[in-house]
Amino acid sequence: MQKKLFSELGLSPESLKAVAKMGFEEASPIQSETIPKLLAGADVVGLSQTGSGKTAAFALPAIERIDVNLRAPQALILCPTRELAMQVAEEVAKLAFFKRGVRELPIYGGQSYDRQLRGLREGAQIIIGTPGRVMDHLQRGTLKLDQIKMVVLDEADRMLDMGFREDIETILKQAPTERQTVFFSATMPPMIRSLIKNFTRDPVNVRIEDQEMTVPAIDQVYYEVDRRFKLEVLCRLIDLQDIKYGIIFCGTKMMCDELADHLKARGYSSDKLHGDISQQMRERVVAKFRKRGFEFLVATDVAARGLDVDDIEVVFNYDLPQDAEDYVHRIGRTGRAGKTGRAVTFVSGREIWKMQQIIRFTKGKIRREKVPSAEEVEEKRTNQFVDTLRETLEKGDFKRQDAIIDQLLNQGHAATDIASALMHLLSEGSTRDVQAIVEEPARRDFREVRQHQHREPRDYPKYEPRPAATPRERPMRESRPRREGSEASTTSHEQGMTRLVLNIGTAHGIGPGDVVGVIAGVARLTKEDIGAINLQEKHTLVDVTDENSKTVLKKLNGIKFKGRKLGVDLAG
Ligand code: AMP
Repeated sequence: MQKKLFSELGLSPESLKAVAKMGFEEASPIQSETIPKLLAGADVVGLSQTGSGKTAAFALPAIERIDVNLRAPQALILCPTRELAMQVAEEVAKLAFFKRGVRELPIYGGQSYDRQLRGLREGAQIIIGTPGRVMDHLQRGTLKLDQIKMVVLDEADRMLDMGFREDIETILKQAPTERQTVFFSATMPPMIRSLIKNFTRDPVNVRIEDQEMTVPAIDQVYYEVDRRFKLEVLCRLIDLQDIKYGIIFCGTKMMCDELADHLKARGYSSDKLHGDISQQMRERVVAKFRKRGFEFLVATDVAARGLDVDDIEVVFNYDLPQDAEDYVHRIGRTGRAGKTGRAVTFVSGREIWKMQQIIRFTKGKIRREKVPSAEEVEEKRTNQFVDTLRETLEKGDFKRQDAIIDQLLNQGHAATDIASALMHLLSEGSTRDVQAIVEEPARRDFREVRQHQHREPRDYPKYEPRPAATPRERPMRESRPRREGSEASTTSHEQGMTRLVLNIGTAHGIGPGDVVGVIAGVARLTKEDIGAINLQEKHTLVDVTDENSKTVLKKLNGIKFKGRKLGVDLAG
């Protein structure tokens, strides 16, 4: 199945703007095939799984069909579970972001009727609901289907498995006969076929071909990781496996930007490649990467197409690829010229279905591995520290402190105890920073997601991983006691420190760890060089040692951080 550009599918400028805002660079195969057919008014039966981009495939045409002047339900999307209904509603909200006057409303069991009734009274046009609750509203007369132009059955096979057949038939019978009907299902059991026969008119069948893929000899593993912990797991793997040269694939341009920023802030040299970057700049980035001018290239599929670089140690699929074909293209960049390559894939929550599809197509050569524990990370850091210590001892490259040691020995402390206590003190600052990771892919909190619906002005929650405070390669430093929220004066209260002002603050979702992270990572300062941090809503005051203030001003000014251009100046 061919992939197309969204601009080739017949969508409105508002929808094109919305997919661009979501960071989608090109339509997935199912979207390329389905969207033009639905826009042309056909009924569609799609054989497709979660992860193929099916939601946007039916949601975009549904949004396009809405008459904003008509405050009544015009599209009905039925989903098997409330979780899926919430997820689909969230995606519809994002896709309808620039369509003024289009309102979506999720209705599912377990949520108060009041909120749903209010939404219906206010004239929601796209209803995303579970069959049970939709039936309730129909029976109460609070939901009317007489203006419905499109009914979508998402994951139809699951709905039937859950015993919703009668409800679905009742609902379909109540919707006007001239409506468009869309079925999406991962399988086509006879019961679905009979529903399709009875409730659609000349449907067009759309399916993603099951292709068998040949995969080169690459060691392939995947990790089940909750989205929130992907960054932490990525950094752990890079550190533990001493990876120095890799490509990290992201699903969207936005994710590319964010990840590249976060990696830099954590002290990994990285750059990015995606569709919004000029051709000239892309060429420069690729040339630098080839010369190993930085360690990690963060890229989207489109931007990395045709990228020819040898000796890539590892390909990371930070976000799952759209399909098995993309997976094979991505990982084919490692293990060239007879060398063994590695591919590491992160899978979050329901994406496991898509992963299983990829495993099938690639003939099951992908192992599941467990996320490295905090203990393993600490052990590695300790080993690194011991190596550095040994090297320092062997070279004799340190200032002697015999007087202090003698004093401690005279007080009766054993030499081994003194050394152990020192190591303990030194390690304290770093081990605290190892973030705890929930191994099981945690389900998202749908109530929380619900609160993001219908906000004025509407905006959707952004992925914001939390950079750790410790920069790479400085694992065992003692940290300077930090006074968070110290007086907001424009000069430092500490001798030898210069107070700087950053144009980001709590309103941009940052915490002290982010400030330390970006300064330590980008300007290569140690934690001891960073003093008091005073976070305000729109700006932050931070002290750095006098001798480093110029470096911070130079290195941080103008970089992109948390989606903003960072501005740094002398306070006052
Ligand atoms: P779905 O199969 O609808 O559950 O979509 C799976 C994931 O892919 C969702 O997170 C979508 O936001 C994302 N997605 C859908 N279409 C695209 C696209 N064309 N490019 C990148 N990501 C997409």
